[in-house]
Amino acid sequence: MTHPAINELLRSLPSVDEVLASPVLTHACAASPHAAVVDAVRQAISEARQSILEGATPDVSADAVAKAAHARLATFLAPSLRRVINASGVIVHTNLGRSVLAPSAVEAVVEAASGYSTLEYDAEHMCRGSRHDHCERLICLLTGAEAAIAVNNNAAAVMMVLSTFAAGHKAVVSRGELVEIGGSFRIPDIMALSQADMVEVGTTNKTHAEDYVRAIDDDVAMLLKVHTSNYRLVGFTESVCGKDLRRIADKAIDDRHARNAAAPDLLVYEDLGSGAFMEVERGVEHPEPTVAEALAAGCDLVSFSGDKLLGGPQAGIIVGSAAHINRLKKSPLARALRLDKMTIAALEATLRLYLDPERARVEVPTLRMLDTPADALRPRAERLAGLINDAVGAHCAIASVVPEISRAGGGALPMCDIPTFAVQVTFKRGTAQGCDEHLVKGGSVPIVARIKKETLLLDVRTVLDEREEKCIAQAIAAYFGIVEEEGIR
Ligand SMILES: *Cc1c(COP(=O)(O)O)cnc(C)c1O
Repeated sequence: MTHPAINELLRSLPSVDEVLASPVLTHACAASPHAAVVDAVRQAISEARQSILEGATPDVSADAVAKAAHARLATFLAPSLRRVINASGVIVHTNLGRSVLAPSAVEAVVEAASGYSTLEYDAEHMCRGSRHDHCERLICLLTGAEAAIAVNNNAAAVMMVLSTFAAGHKAVVSRGELVEIGGSFRIPDIMALSQADMVEVGTTNKTHAEDYVRAIDDDVAMLLKVHTSNYRLVGFTESVCGKDLRRIADKAIDDRHARNAAAPDLLVYEDLGSGAFMEVERGVEHPEPTVAEALAAGCDLVSFSGDKLLGGPQAGIIVGSAAHINRLKKSPLARALRLDKMTIAALEATLRLYLDPERARVEVPTLRMLDTPADALRPRAERLAGLINDAVGAHCAIASVVPEISRAGGGALPMCDIPTFAVQVTFKRGTAQGCDEHLVKGGSVPIVARIKKETLLLDVRTVLDEREEKCIAQAIAAYFGIVEEEGIR
């Protein structure tokens, strides 16, 4: 387009008032917050202007712009954080909110949120209480720790431990454990942020006890061990276990005492990542270490997430000796990274379920999903396949039940194939990609599935109930409704 033509089009853009007066918007104007309507109109005009500047010739009538504004308004007024049906088979799916809370945890959240609470009030002694008290005894009982503190998430826990105990000093870590966890959590970056001086030892594949021993001088304040989460080294590898780190640290501490050396405390700290209270996966080859095991090995401090394998709300839990945990409680970071009442309510309720491990396996959704054997999922997969075949003509697609693999997710059990049964949809009309897109975008509840070789896979392990199964079948039927209407082949 020539410059004059562009200018001509720009001049013909309607004003905000002209768009607001369009019959397309008059109803929306009455029913929706005025500020939101005006904002949507401004954005629609600005979008039209932008596309003109890029050389396009959009319809710039007030009605056309009003239509675009109306679509924007609808998106804006719908909640952004919405329910999703997870048919991916990834149990702790970070993009989908990780763990689904147990019913008792949900009830506790509602109770805490809908009234005043004893968040920082000690009703027994009628005095000020501490928000740390609600979960500490439970965590200690479940892990064998002397003391505990829970903060915003495990990334916050790592940050807090490093900056409280290793800032201005050296922290020794294996090169094989300098991992990135995802979402920009990288061990070297967290070290730098906490002002600990990182000392890398060993190589990518092998780190020996001797490597730590050689790195220790009187400025070392911490031996750090990091669970490598969703990354595994296999083959010619070696790492040093918590027990050996304890032995190395004790020897160095004795030596410092003998020499009367001026040196900081020397701590062994393990970032366990997922952290489990019990064996969550029966009989797998590479089980996740439990928190109690890490403590029993001799770590001074251990931290882990609340919403990975534990199946609770987002939180970072740190356990260890009372002396160390007390220092953490007094840190200004403890205030900045503290939990809110809804999270404390959910965490406490989840921890209570663990007091009876068999009950936890049934009631904590993450544990239940991990624990359900494939054979128990088969009837559910058959039911879902039946619902889909009933709703969709055989000339459109065929749903059948196939053996598949679920994943723990959340960086836990990366080597663990969890056998499952999934529904495989094979397409005679439309495409798996088209259907997948419709499932995510087409309805009010996005449905997340998987695509495998031109077929759609729906793993029932992470589908919560029969109601969700019906939603899936309806959404697939709606996709074929569109396909038939548009005559897509
Ligand atoms: C997941 C993970 C973290 C971060 O935990 P969040 O609870 O997501 O903050 C830190 N370290 C390891 C080893 C992890 O696996």
